[in-house]
Amino acid sequence: MSKLKRVDPQIYKAILDEIRREDENLELIASENFVSEEVLEAQGSIMTNKYAEGYPGARWYNGCHNVDIVETLAVERAKKLFGAEHVNVQPHSGTQANMAVYFAMLNLGDTVMSMDLSCGGHLSHGHPHSFSGKFYKIVPYGLNRKTETLDYDEILELAKKARPKMILAGASAYPRAIDFKKFRRIADAVGAFLLVDIAHIAGLVAGGVHQNPVEYAEFVSSTTHKTMRGPRGGFIMCRKEFAKKIDMEIFPGIQGGPLMHIIAAKAVCFKEASTPAFKAYQRQIIKNARALSEEFEKLGYRIISGGTDTHLFLVDLSKKNITGKDASRTLDRANITVNKNLIPFDAQSPFVTSGIRIGTPAVTTRGMKEPEMRRIAHLIDRVLKSPNDEKAVKGVRADVSAIAKAFPLYKSLK
Ligand code: PLP
Repeated sequence: MSKLKRVDPQIYKAILDEIRREDENLELIASENFVSEEVLEAQGSIMTNKYAEGYPGARWYNGCHNVDIVETLAVERAKKLFGAEHVNVQPHSGTQANMAVYFAMLNLGDTVMSMDLSCGGHLSHGHPHSFSGKFYKIVPYGLNRKTETLDYDEILELAKKARPKMILAGASAYPRAIDFKKFRRIADAVGAFLLVDIAHIAGLVAGGVHQNPVEYAEFVSSTTHKTMRGPRGGFIMCRKEFAKKIDMEIFPGIQGGPLMHIIAAKAVCFKEASTPAFKAYQRQIIKNARALSEEFEKLGYRIISGGTDTHLFLVDLSKKNITGKDASRTLDRANITVNKNLIPFDAQSPFVTSGIRIGTPAVTTRGMKEPEMRRIAHLIDRVLKSPNDEKAVKGVRADVSAIAKAFPLYKSLK
């Protein structure tokens, strides 16, 4: 980055500091990951220069033959990877992918059933300040109080009363596998569309370690930057009959020109996700999440729903004398990054919370396995046991540094 260094030293320094932060920290935020250098190269390419409103072969601008190749490859690779009839790779984010489905298929004020945000749903599934909560009548479904898992019979009963036009399955903080076949049956029982948001678990689905919803849902939305390990962005899969509606809703409905450099990086991500190495990576993410959560249990922590089937789990701190907010802040000081999270039926506010959410995609990308996970559980425990003991925090920071050094990130970027 010698040119950037000369012309804009402030931005250069911030990027360098971020490389250092990512390298030195243990990244346990479940929605984050480290992309490959190939994805970075495509994303940082001159494809950013091109306006390409429209779709391959039908653009409003000239000179689109190269970007057409890129977008067609991205679409074809995603179709093959997930077995989808139609794919739109243009959504700038997961939220915009969801927004396009809502706007294409619903009228303002229609009823949508989605997972309660306090039980793990996402803002774009119905938060009052999101377009979803503002424009539609949201009927939230929650979790069974005893099992802290989805109760499909309860959801069916609720659907029969609410008669939603669309049911949304998928979550941001739900550690268990979701049965999309059961959601299909519920949607059919009340004549609703089914939208499945796999933003978090897309990599697990592509890797064959989570049920694929494409077979069961009219619409599947996703991001490419979480377990998929691609660039920051979204995509939508749908049945052929809805292809035109969805494409029109993305452009010109809610977006302008597509980000062709990001779409190039999405194409690379889909190629990487079709390899045996990616499948092995996804298996390891789950093994790591299990090893880490089991070690926490051994250390006396309660894990929501008693464990995990995915890349993430939630730790209940309500009996540990520390809030999620304070825990995440203290762990930050030890260079361990997690986020505070509501636990089901939390007595605390979303700003404070009684839990933390822990995910293993990023540390698995660095090559860490079960032994490192067990070590990390002990490091976190040491910090949470004595959050005000600066010496203890400093000691953990040194141990974190040793683990991080053993699994270096982006060697060629330094
Ligand atoms: N859907 C789910 C389930 C998510 O967890 C997220 C992000 O965390 C999104 C959608 C939104 O993605 P983005 O941040 O790209 O808008």
